Amino acid sequence: MKNVALIAHDNLKPKMVEWARTNKNYLSKFNLFATGTTGKQIEEEVKLPVTRFKSGPLGGDQQIGAGVAEGRIDAIIFFWDPLAPHPHDVDVKALLRIAVVYDIPMACNLATANLIIGNL
Ligand code: PGA
Repeated sequence: MKNVALIAHDNLKPKMVEWARTNKNYLSKFNLFATGTTGKQIEEEVKLPVTRFKSGPLGGDQQIGAGVAEGRIDAIIFFWDPLAPHPHDVDVKALLRIAVVYDIPMACNLATANLIIGNL
């Protein structure tokens, strides 16, 4: 079973929940991981089991990055917000980098998430 990490910045959380609901059948085939608040919303609103890391600004993105480096995360869906500043911007950059280093699929927008989800 593949391990898929989900992350959404605050302004994109409604979009993530809607996307997860639409793709619930696909997502139910994976072990799901997420940063704290994103995971909570998906569990409560979409009713999918999610292993939750810390909230992004408190290190959740870095925990997912560590999972990638250790071979425990196979793909990332990350709806990051290009229009708002974030205190953990450097963590986001580090996560993008480590996903490239380990050559794992990483979707940063809805269009790419839709392409990836059916092909994992
Ligand atoms: P959150 O973290 O799911 O805990 O809000 C996401 C982020 O901001 O990276």
